[in-house]
Amino acid sequence: MTFTTRFAPSPTGPLHLGHAFSALLASDLADQHDGTFLLRIEDIDQSRARPAWEKQIYEDLAWLGLDWPRPVMRQSDRLPRYTAALKTLTDLGLTYACRCNRADIEAAAGAPQEGVPQFGPDGRIYPGTCRDRRIATPAPQDVIRLDMRAALAQLGPLSFGETSQDLGGRIRIDPEHLLTGVGDIILVRRNMGSSYHLSVVVDDADQGITDVVRGADLFETTQIHVVLQTLLSLPVPRYHHHRLIRDSAGKRLAKRDDARAIAKYRSEGARPADIRDLIGLSGILT
Ligand code: GLU
Repeated sequence: MTFTTRFAPSPTGPLHLGHAFSALLASDLADQHDGTFLLRIEDIDQSRARPAWEKQIYEDLAWLGLDWPRPVMRQSDRLPRYTAALKTLTDLGLTYACRCNRADIEAAAGAPQEGVPQFGPDGRIYPGTCRDRRIATPAPQDVIRLDMRAALAQLGPLSFGETSQDLGGRIRIDPEHLLTGVGDIILVRRNMGSSYHLSVVVDDADQGITDVVRGADLFETTQIHVVLQTLLSLPVPRYHHHRLIRDSAGKRLAKRDDARAIAKYRSEGARPADIRDLIGLSGILT
């Protein structure tokens, strides 16, 4: 299959150096493999997505020298696809509706216990209060969660191929970690019709993505995605988790570190090659 990768930003703020690293590396790898680099706009959260940010994403990426096929996939156009995937999971008996708010979850989680993680990739690990609320037709204000224990009971051993030099090889997923360190992840957010996890796996499959290039901070998230892909009978792409871009003090760049916005460097007269130098992507691929 032809190497196909993507860059999938959310139009909720400016692209910064970390985004530039992901996008340039994905595009470089696509070139290296005679493949395709796609852009996808992850605007499922319509309360935060703004057309002005989307416009700036196109401008910044074009300025960096990137090109991609049009039309661009936008998640806000794809709700029926996510609803269909949710139905598959519901038909498998793996979903439930959750009405807990943050305070309910904190109260139910109780006091921290030695050796038991409290937080996972999506924040506080859900204590399972609503797990028995299996309903066929959820209300818009419901959050829909995946019953991770029931899901794992339907699956065999899980693994994925990792192509980065640091981590490379076949990564086996530890089911125990999914239960205790990840838990019942959200498939549909309140009034949103989907979630990041559900949308991404459906989109990656529909776009024929063979290789996902993303930051090492999403390594645990990838394990969630492999669970969903397997439950939904979707292909599991290869993954390339790249190093994270840090500032000169060694601190990881925050998502909303506007001081590192590409647009700011542009306005100060930087050239695209300067951005590649700044993030260490001028020569050998990482
Ligand atoms: N929208 C996500 C982000 O910007 C996409 C990352 C991914 O799925 O690889 O973090």
